[in-house]
Amino acid sequence: MDKVRKSEEEWRRELTPEQYHVTREKGTERPFSGEYERTKESGTYVCAACGNPLFSSDEKYDSGSGWPSFTRPLSGESVATEPDDSQFMERTEVVCSRCDAHLGHVFDDGPQPTGQRYCMNSVALKLEKEGERKK
Ligand code: FE
Repeated sequence: MDKVRKSEEEWRRELTPEQYHVTREKGTERPFSGEYERTKESGTYVCAACGNPLFSSDEKYDSGSGWPSFTRPLSGESVATEPDDSQFMERTEVVCSRCDAHLGHVFDDGPQPTGQRYCMNSVALKLEKEGERKK
């Protein structure tokens, strides 16, 4: 995959202040505030910063956490993970594998069969809706 690399100034110009804060400064949107928290529409969630396809709506579930949650990424190459020990917690950060945008964290309290909860910030995602369901 070709990496997307831009200067902080370029990101600042292209992203909204909230997108910049979450994706480049590892911010977190307030729970129950995001655009996609309750979304059930079909489509593909892509990186808000670079357009990299990240998650399918098929894997989205209602975790009750206040953030859009998925049981797995689209593919093993969609996202990358990093240990994150900030905020006095040991968590696993999830970033876009193409542009390194901070997306959220992954926890191991998700539903079976994966047991994983990819807890994402709506503002780091963009839903590309599907006109018709493809089988
Ligand atoms: Fe990206």
